[in-house]
Amino acid sequence: MNIIFLGPPGAGKGTHAADFSKELGIPHISTGEIFREAVKNETPIGLKAKEFMDRGELVPDEVVVDVVLDRLKRDDCQKGYILDGFPRSLPQAEMLGQKSDSELTAVIYFETCKDVILMRLTGRWMCRGCGKGYHIKNLPPKVAGVCDECAGELYQRADDKVDTIEHRLTVYNQETKTLIDYYKNKDILIQVNGDFEKQEGHEELEGVFTKLKSNASC
Ligand code: ADP
Ligand code: ZN
Repeated sequence: MNIIFLGPPGAGKGTHAADFSKELGIPHISTGEIFREAVKNETPIGLKAKEFMDRGELVPDEVVVDVVLDRLKRDDCQKGYILDGFPRSLPQAEMLGQKSDSELTAVIYFETCKDVILMRLTGRWMCRGCGKGYHIKNLPPKVAGVCDECAGELYQRADDKVDTIEHRLTVYNQETKTLIDYYKNKDILIQVNGDFEKQEGHEELEGVFTKLKSNASC
C-alpha cells in the first residue's frame, strides 16, 4: 500500500492519514510535519526550510526530495506508507517516480471548496508534542489547549494566518494542482470529497481502502 494523499491545504489529508496509518499499520509521512520538527530542532534542513514555510512558499524541490527518499528507505516503509503533502510539484513527482523503488498503489485526491478550506485552517490548532491537528469547532480537544493523545500544548501555526493561507492556495493552484492530471494519466488517481466532515470522509476512505486491498489480493 504505497499511497499519496493529494489536495489543497485544509483538505483533511493529515487528519485522515493519521487515522488510516494506525488502521493499516503503515507510517504516515507528512513533509510539513518533518519540516516543522526540523525547524523546532534548528537542524540544517530546518534552517533552510523555515523562511519558505513562514511565507507559505514551497521548500525547494531538492531539499524536499532528499528528505522524502531518505525517509522511504527506513524499515517501517516495507509494507507501505501514506505520503501526506508530497509530492507538491511536477519535479517532485517525477523524482519520486524515478528514484523510489516502490510502485505507487494509488493517489487519493481530496477535492475541497475554498470556503471549507478557509474555515478549517483559520480554526486549526496543532499539538507541539505529536503534531496532531484539532479544530475549535469540528474537532475540539477534550481539554482546551491540551492534546488528547500526548497532553502536549496546542498552538496555531504561523502560516495559518489569512494572508498566508491565501498565498498557500495560490501556490497550490500554480504548482500542485497539475499533479491531478499527472496521476490521472497514470490511471492511479482516486477522487474523494474533501468537504465531508471527519466521520463521513472516514467512511468514504474506508470504501476506497477496502477496494484497494481486494485489488491487491487478486
Ligand atoms: P498544508 O498542507 O496545511 O499547507 P503542510 O503541513 O503540508 O501544510 O506544509 C507546511 C509547509 O511546509 C508548506 O507550506 C511548505 O512550505 C512546506 N512543505 C511541506 N511539504 C512540502 C513539499 N512537498 N514541497 C515543498 N514544500 C513543502
Ligand atoms: Zn500531541
